[in-house]
Amino acid sequence: MGDYRVKATAAGGSIRAIAAVTTATALRVQNLHHASPVAAAALGRLITAASLLASDFKDAFRLTVEVQADGPLGRLVSEIRTGGLIRARTENSLVDLPLRSDNKLAVGQAVGNRGTLRVTREERGRNPYEGQAPIVSGEIGEDLANYYRISEQIPSAVALGVLIGHEGLVVASGGVVIQALPGIQTVTTDEITDKFQKLHNISWRLSNGETPEDLLREVLPTSIHWLGTDSLEYQCQCSSERSLEIIGSLPTGDLDALIQDKGAEVVCHFCNTAYPISLFQLEKARSDRAIPEG
Ligand SMILES: [Zn+2]
Repeated sequence: MGDYRVKATAAGGSIRAIAAVTTATALRVQNLHHASPVAAAALGRLITAASLLASDFKDAFRLTVEVQADGPLGRLVSEIRTGGLIRARTENSLVDLPLRSDNKLAVGQAVGNRGTLRVTREERGRNPYEGQAPIVSGEIGEDLANYYRISEQIPSAVALGVLIGHEGLVVASGGVVIQALPGIQTVTTDEITDKFQKLHNISWRLSNGETPEDLLREVLPTSIHWLGTDSLEYQCQCSSERSLEIIGSLPTGDLDALIQDKGAEVVCHFCNTAYPISLFQLEKARSDRAIPEG
C-alpha cells in the first residue's frame, strides 16, 4: 500500500475528517538524512501534518509547515506540493534522546515546547497565506490542533503517530484530523470526542494493516460520506536549473569569489544532492549580470 490521504464528511456535513498514511515517505526521509529514531518520528509526524493541512487545494499549490522551537532538533520543515509530492528536513537529524519513562520516543523534548508552528499556503490564482500558532508541547499533533484552533478557528482533534521498529527505522506513519464545522450538534461532538479519546496507537494499527479509512470509521458516526483519496509520495523539488537560479541570485561579490575558486557546488538541504557549478556557468551568471553599456 502506497502513501495516501482520504477525506470524508459525516453527520450531514457538520464534521470534516481527513486521515493519511505516510509510512513510505517518512522512511525515505529518514534514510536520506540518516535520521535518529526520535528525529524520524518528529519528521514523520510533520510530514503527516503537511498532508492533512493540504487536503483542500483546488489548483497547483505548495504548502509548507515549519516548526521552530527550542529543542535540539532545531528547525523542522515539511513541504507538500501539487500531486502530493512531499519533502522534509530538520537541522539536526542525528540528535538522539533516551526513551521517556513510559518507553515512548521523546519527540516533544527533541522538538522543544517553546516556539512557533508556521504554515504557508501558496496556490495558483490566490494570494499566499501565512498562519502561525505557538508550540504547545512539541509533540506536533497537539501543536497542529492548536494551530487549527487559533489560526483557522476550527475546533479539531488531531492524532499523529510514527512507529519505529527494532532496527530504529520507520515502520508506520500516519494520522487523523476530525473537525467540527458550524452547525454541529453537541451530542455529535460529545460522541466523537469520546470515540477519539479511545483511538490509541494509530501507527501500530497502520503497521498491522489497518487503513486510514478504518481509523475514520472508528471515530465517525455511521453516516460517512467519502470524498475520495489522493496519493502522497516523496519527491524533492531541487534540480540543476534551480541551483543555477540560486547562483544567479547571489550578491556580485559572492559570485566573484566563487569565480576565483574556479567552481562551486550547490547542495540541497532537503535531499543532500550536490549540484556542481562549473567556472563557465559562474562566468555566464556574472556576465548576465553586467549592466550593458550605453
Ligand atoms: Zn533536493
